[in-house]
Amino acid sequence: MTTYEALNERTVVVYLREQLPEFFDANAPLIAREIGDGNLNQVFIVRNERDPQQALVLKQALPFLRVAGESWPLTRERVRFESQALLLYNKIVLGLAPEVYLYDAEMSVLVMEYLGSHEVMRKPLVSRARFPQFADHISTFLAEVLFKTSDLYLSGLEKKTLQAQFINPHLCKIQEDFVYTNPYMSSPENQWNPEIDAEVREVRSNSTLKFAIAEMKASYMTQTQALIHSDLHTGSIMVNETDTRVIDPEFSFFGPMGYDLGALFANLVLNYVSHFAHTKDEQTRQDYQRYLLNLIRDIWLQFAQKFEALWVANNTGELVPSAYWLYPDGDAAFASYRNKYLENLLQDAAGHGACEMLRRMMGIVTVWDISSISDLSQRAVVERYAIRIGSRWVMEHKSLTSVDDLINIVEEETRNRH
Ligand code: ADP
Ligand code: MG
Repeated sequence: MTTYEALNERTVVVYLREQLPEFFDANAPLIAREIGDGNLNQVFIVRNERDPQQALVLKQALPFLRVAGESWPLTRERVRFESQALLLYNKIVLGLAPEVYLYDAEMSVLVMEYLGSHEVMRKPLVSRARFPQFADHISTFLAEVLFKTSDLYLSGLEKKTLQAQFINPHLCKIQEDFVYTNPYMSSPENQWNPEIDAEVREVRSNSTLKFAIAEMKASYMTQTQALIHSDLHTGSIMVNETDTRVIDPEFSFFGPMGYDLGALFANLVLNYVSHFAHTKDEQTRQDYQRYLLNLIRDIWLQFAQKFEALWVANNTGELVPSAYWLYPDGDAAFASYRNKYLENLLQDAAGHGACEMLRRMMGIVTVWDISSISDLSQRAVVERYAIRIGSRWVMEHKSLTSVDDLINIVEEETRNRH
């Protein structure tokens, strides 16, 4: 197929036989199922009926935003960003993203490894599942990808050449609008629980808060630190007991590193607050909530340690070359520069994560952890916690110096208040 057409469960099989003739046994009966639970694209699982292990996933962009229908055009080029990012992830650190089998620009198709023994992380977190390897895996992923696409590792020429492949204005615009702008003003697509009307109004008219959010938006729009995933919530991570994969990097571009860490922390906090409604038994709830906060702490501490170790061992980038530190106090100065860099990164993570938390309470998309709470007044309790935590994370982000400062805000804002 050379010209674009939207595939369906029948034509996807024909397409794959032509494009990837080696993948499936020659006469194998193939069945396709469209499983896209996502908001944007169609996703097919195609498998050999006789050997279900022989399977792959085909993702295709439609020329519009799937949730909104044809009234919302969106460039199909998003599959290019997703394919390029997955290929790069696998090159930088093997086994933390699905393997890419094919990228077809004309058809806006990405064919990748089927993660049949993994599940999207969000729902199991609501059922209080624990993933013992997760902090280790995701901190490795973030440290490796963020460091190795930054000016700390790459020359200016290398970095800017790579950055040029990731100029992703249409998908950036979605986050600029829906993470940093529209939720905090009147806009027709916004949705919120009517029981938190007062809190939503308060957010929209709090100048200190709005200055702080605008500062994070400026960072998102102008800080080209590294290749970020830019939608790293718990629905973009597939996990099992022993393995972790990052999926769906169609929003990826060169932006602030703190956005990815922040989105992840924010979604773990949203899960944390959701258990005030989901988990009635106090002891069970507290145990799991403690697990979530420890997870945030572990992710940060392991990330910081791995990121710094990479930097010390590979200070090959444009920003602060090794020769720059060749003076008597240079070693100590470089060490405290690294420290400061990581502190800024933690503060950015709090600020960006806060915007992610707040927008999920009053913008175009919520999270299932919270939307699945059917009792609106119970849901409001949870949402008020998230709004208070998010507001403090962003307004206070410049004064947070350790991950425990972020965690303390979560505990302070949810202690004895439900
Ligand atoms: P969208 O960009 O439309 O949000 P996603 O990339 O999030 O699409 O994929 C939608 C869903 O398809 C995921 O939530 C997951 O359930 C499933 N999925 C995506 N990629 C894979 C994969 N490689 N293996 C198995 N399931 C997958
Ligand atoms: Mg998705």
